[in-house]
Amino acid sequence: MVDTNLNLDATGQAQKDLVVFGRRMLAEGLAIGTAGNLSIRVDDLIAITPSSIPYADVETEDICVLTLDGEQVSGRAKVSSEWPMHSGIYRTTGARAVVHTHSPEVVALSVSREELPAIHYAIHALGGPVPVVGYTRFGTDGLARGVADVLASRTAAILSNHGAVTFGDTIAQAYERAHLLEWLAGVYRLSLAYGSPRILSTEEMAEVAAEVSRRRYGGATQ
Ligand SMILES: [Zn+2]
Repeated sequence: MVDTNLNLDATGQAQKDLVVFGRRMLAEGLAIGTAGNLSIRVDDLIAITPSSIPYADVETEDICVLTLDGEQVSGRAKVSSEWPMHSGIYRTTGARAVVHTHSPEVVALSVSREELPAIHYAIHALGGPVPVVGYTRFGTDGLARGVADVLASRTAAILSNHGAVTFGDTIAQAYERAHLLEWLAGVYRLSLAYGSPRILSTEEMAEVAAEVSRRRYGGATQ
């Protein structure tokens, strides 16, 4: 039996936030129709967008609330088929929110490359160059494991022939990372038109990391 002593304020807020960010994901072209999904962790529960309802039509009551084992405790709709991937990320990282997109630049990259290289220092926010997880069908434990492996050392993963996953401390941060990943993939594609892009070295990325850390702890803004 699931403990239904939920943190109702926090789960209710998470449901509202997911409606807002789902619509934003659609409006900003990071997904089409019902593709992709978003979730927020609240204590040991996950609020997650539903399956088969277009983002434009999703209402707060449709957002599902699950245990980490996938038992639905509230929400009137059917849960997203990718809930095992979200659950796996919450079990293996410090994620508080997860965004899964089918954004076009990232999908295009995923079918031709094995990673998104460090073409711009902003990739530091994703933990460095972003690997492409080998193809496994959506909704499988294999996909969930492959993504969790990458996210042990990154805040973003690219899924071959599928899309991307990012996480963050908040849904806003996870979403901004999904947006950044899409922008970087687009810039990389443009850069290839000029020939062979110069990739930032491990040392140059370490220098970026050190400077970001110094500014954060020194109180200065980036
Ligand atoms: Zn997907």
